[in-house]
Amino acid sequence: MINWYPGHMAKAKKEITNNLKLVDVVYEIVDARIPKSSRNPDFDEIIGEKKRIILLNKEDLADENITEKWIEHYKKSGIEAVKINSITGRGFKELEKKTKEVCKEILEKKVQKGLTPRLRGMILGIPNVGKSTFINTLIGEKKAKTGNKPGVTKNLHWIRTQYIDLLDTPGILWPKFEDKTTGLMLAITGAIKDEILDVEEVALYLVFILKNRYPDHLINRYKLDKIWEEEIKIIEEIGKKRGCFVSGGKVDFMKASFLLLEDFRRGNLGRISLEEP
Ligand code: GDP
Repeated sequence: MINWYPGHMAKAKKEITNNLKLVDVVYEIVDARIPKSSRNPDFDEIIGEKKRIILLNKEDLADENITEKWIEHYKKSGIEAVKINSITGRGFKELEKKTKEVCKEILEKKVQKGLTPRLRGMILGIPNVGKSTFINTLIGEKKAKTGNKPGVTKNLHWIRTQYIDLLDTPGILWPKFEDKTTGLMLAITGAIKDEILDVEEVALYLVFILKNRYPDHLINRYKLDKIWEEEIKIIEEIGKKRGCFVSGGKVDFMKASFLLLEDFRRGNLGRISLEEP
């Protein structure tokens, strides 16, 4: 299991807590394909009573029905969630609407005090969920920094948008590996670098999920004759269909595994959600 540095984590938490005081609302971004594994459960404690909205990002890659189930699931626990595509900006209007709803009282108070009814917010999320992409699309320029340094910078800058001023640097927390599945989920979606993982093991786990829940996606993409019981056999067949061979005519499992993972990450297999509420 991977061990993230507890020192870094503590620093990131502290900085985020400080910045939280400055905002009315937090946008917590998760990957819609793995809403559970792509959020650090410590968020709840860090955010406390602060208003928040969960952004189910990369909705274009996730299974629409399951994304709806997640939205319902959060709603039941009193949290608003909105599905978005940060590349195209799909769902941003809905987000604006939801934000104004969630912050209704805050906005009213500002008006009563004679202040402009503008909101202040910040983005939070683990690396690779699309924080920078979201900010860039929201402001319509390539401005936000992409990078995976935890915490937030000391020099605060606000990005002015139509209805909300956002801190230009998102709050970043490392993912929390509560169990092995979380690590595998993050690896499948590309949130953890391939170099630190056993690619074949990750691909086997993806096949394990797909063969049970999305068998047709596999069959259609690779023109498979059927779905075999053993995951390794399915990877072998994918390798054969795609010409992944080592010398001697045997299937190159590593290459076939990479190919499958890349196809999944690009959405070439179709819309797939790996976690249900
Ligand atoms: P950050 O580390 O949270 O700032 O994540 P980035 O903004 O760098 O995004 C990580 C990767 O996800 C990039 O390759 C983005 O192009 C991609 N990405 C971000 N949002 C979306 C989305 O809504 N849909 C899809 N398909 N890809 C996205």
